Amino acid sequence: MIYPWHKKQWDELRANLDRLHHALLFSGPPGCGKAVFAEDFARSLLCRCPGAAGEACGVCPSCRWIEAGNHPDFRRIVPEASAESVSGEAAEGVSVARKPRSSQIRIEQIRSLGDLTSVGTHQSGRRVVVVRPAEAMNPHTANAFLKLLEEPPSSTYFILVTGDPARLLPTLRSRCRKLGFGKPDAGEAVAWLAQQGIPEPDLALRAAGGMPLEAARWADPGYRSLFDWFIGQLADGAAVDAVGVAAAWEARNRGRAEEPGGPALSTLVIWLQRWLFDLISCRMGGGPVYFAGARQVLEKIASRSLLTALFGCYNEAIAFRRVDEHPLNARLFMEDMLSRYARALPAAGSR
Ligand SMILES: [Zn+2]
Repeated sequence: MIYPWHKKQWDELRANLDRLHHALLFSGPPGCGKAVFAEDFARSLLCRCPGAAGEACGVCPSCRWIEAGNHPDFRRIVPEASAESVSGEAAEGVSVARKPRSSQIRIEQIRSLGDLTSVGTHQSGRRVVVVRPAEAMNPHTANAFLKLLEEPPSSTYFILVTGDPARLLPTLRSRCRKLGFGKPDAGEAVAWLAQQGIPEPDLALRAAGGMPLEAARWADPGYRSLFDWFIGQLADGAAVDAVGVAAAWEARNRGRAEEPGGPALSTLVIWLQRWLFDLISCRMGGGPVYFAGARQVLEKIASRSLLTALFGCYNEAIAFRRVDEHPLNARLFMEDMLSRYARALPAAGSR
């Protein structure tokens, strides 16, 4: 699926197909759909009978092999921890629940590309390697990858996908032709969400910071109910029951560790951070940016709060995001986070 907000990038690549650079770097914020785009473009390069806009047909042998995960001229290099997410959708949205597997791309994965590029192509005459997220390569691994780029095998295209190009080796970045993916136009994104049958597409898009793939997760009743529940807890302000919420969260997740796609702790930290952003915005006289549906409650909490306390808590939430992938104890982590939130706000009735 080529998202309507990616048509420009798609047309640009297709128009330059005969002199396509062998190393492409797609960068853009999480949830914009760049990983899906990379997969679509890879498919289109290998498809035997692409459509009028260059899109993969989905039915030729090449397309079927990719679908089945065994195309001899295609490789997808992802960290083990996200290997179950082959379509790119989950990798692009808010983090999914993770098994404790490596979140790094291992050097062996890069070395294994040697087999791919040392023999002739099997099919269309092209080979494609998608690496995502490229920042999951540590400097050692990135150097091994760089060697491949320095002596590119003929007809081989490397597509790197990143949400954070600054974390890539400068030497790696400089070898690639860069293509940027920004936040889509809100009107276009809302129209697309409505087409997908997402309830309240406008509110969903705002809550997702303008990123349509994250907003599309509102279609999942479990995700939506978690969102409503957690935001409902934050709406209690200083009266939030940190211990009770943390216990409820733990109970909710018990036995769900194997369920891919369930919202992870980092998702809740992002929601808290956005909620605090809205409190600050309301305290400064602006309206909410993310939670338009909760304007009244946000304004009420904000009007009684000290701006310095809100900023302090917001900065703490940012610090939490650096360690939320694998906390030692998710329940204590949540308890600590919400206690800090409660302490930053004045108790009901006081000023
Ligand atoms: Zn095809």
